[in-house]
Amino acid sequence: MRHRIQALQIEMQDDTAEELLAKTGQFFGGRIALASSFGAEDQVLTDMLCRLSPATVVFTLDTGRLPEETYDLMERTRRRYDIGIEVLFPDHRQVEAMVGEHGCNLFYESIENRKRCCRVRKIEPLRRRLASLEAWFCGLREQQSPTREGLKRIDWDEAFGLVKVCPLADWPTEAVWDYIRRYDVPYNALHDRSYPSIGCAPCTRAVRAGEDIRSGRWWWETPEHKECGLHLHPEDKNARKEGQV
Ligand code: SF4
Repeated sequence: MRHRIQALQIEMQDDTAEELLAKTGQFFGGRIALASSFGAEDQVLTDMLCRLSPATVVFTLDTGRLPEETYDLMERTRRRYDIGIEVLFPDHRQVEAMVGEHGCNLFYESIENRKRCCRVRKIEPLRRRLASLEAWFCGLREQQSPTREGLKRIDWDEAFGLVKVCPLADWPTEAVWDYIRRYDVPYNALHDRSYPSIGCAPCTRAVRAGEDIRSGRWWWETPEHKECGLHLHPEDKNARKEGQV
């Protein structure tokens, strides 16, 4: 597989995001899907896919703690593009056990508890879905966070054991919003209220002018910890294997 990825990286290195989506979509056929959290980048990819390859599966993780504005966007997206969106939920037994032992707002108490919550509500449902795929699309960009430096547009996802395709990896923020305005792509109302990055409601807040775009996520933690475990920096892969995330 690594040889295939290297070949794809070379073959597609000068492709636009749309060309990359089209070619990898064709290459993996029905064994690739878009994981959307309805962030601005995911909305760009949804719009591109609906133009290029409307049969591509779009799925999302409903952690049970999302802001109302995200559910509203989910509905607007579904209607705008006339697509079905797979909504994945965490295992209720795991949620009940976690909340029973640590409380509803455990994530504020320690990094360990925050990662426990992300693992139950996000990582496990994602792992279940990715197990049936050979590749996944996601809207990560290198500029978003120090933890995403060195992000490749196509790479092997060691954590989940499949190919990860990030067509916007090298896009600056302005390009994302230029695209959204040009094609009138629906976006989360929270973006207009100084939320550049949106996750679960209790773990996201607005940022002040000049602050890092991810500073509103898990704001009580230091930047190097700000990943939920869905997207690990290459150097963190060992942590995943050791079950530390
Ligand atoms: S972002 Fe917060 S509420 Fe959502 S899964 Fe992670 S810790 Fe839990």
